[in-house]
Amino acid sequence: MNKILIVEDEIAIAELEKDYLELSGFEVEVETTGDLGLRKALSEEYDLVILDLMLPNVDGFEICKRVREVKNIPVIMVSAKRDDIDKIRGLGLGADDYMTKPFSPSELVARVKAHLARYERLIGSGVKENEVLEIRGLKIDKTARRVFLNGEERIFTTKEFDLLTFLAENPNRVYTKDELFRDIWDMESVGDIATVTVHIKKIREKIEYNTSKPQYIETIWGVGYRFKV
Ligand code: CA
Repeated sequence: MNKILIVEDEIAIAELEKDYLELSGFEVEVETTGDLGLRKALSEEYDLVILDLMLPNVDGFEICKRVREVKNIPVIMVSAKRDDIDKIRGLGLGADDYMTKPFSPSELVARVKAHLARYERLIGSGVKENEVLEIRGLKIDKTARRVFLNGEERIFTTKEFDLLTFLAENPNRVYTKDELFRDIWDMESVGDIATVTVHIKKIREKIEYNTSKPQYIETIWGVGYRFKV
């Protein structure tokens, strides 16, 4: 359930807003002074704040500014004076919306819903899914750098992981040991193309059912390796 904080010193207005929002399924808390409102807004988790401008002790400008420093939840500012709304906009405090009193409670509810939906989309889009390659029971999680065979994790060293991922991302192409060594190992690496052979062998032991009849990484005699899809 979305939790909303109302900071409003006119009790009748605060109660009206609270009633309408609760009827729409929101959990609502009210503070009637600026200092208490600010403290609550900063110390507790809310999904949205409705902020009156003129408040005892600390005004809505200050609260909005302080909340913005640490949270990006939607803030709707309300004021009795049209002039004040223009002033708030001009200050660029980062409020998401402004309403002039008196407003209809149902309009407030509609705006609250719209801002919460927009905010949730914003948050949702920030969560990226892991980049995963899946080939017949073999799962390579590129983001977590983990390999699973039929759901069971296989532990890979860095180079084994890089080599397997490189081949799996470029399937059905034959790479020579030279090419693979150049692509996977950097210039400073000690080693030679025999290193590639050793790593291929280790990878096969981890992912192939039968290493003499590999189903993922094939040996193309005299040329190199190919990842089969
Ligand atoms: Ca007021």
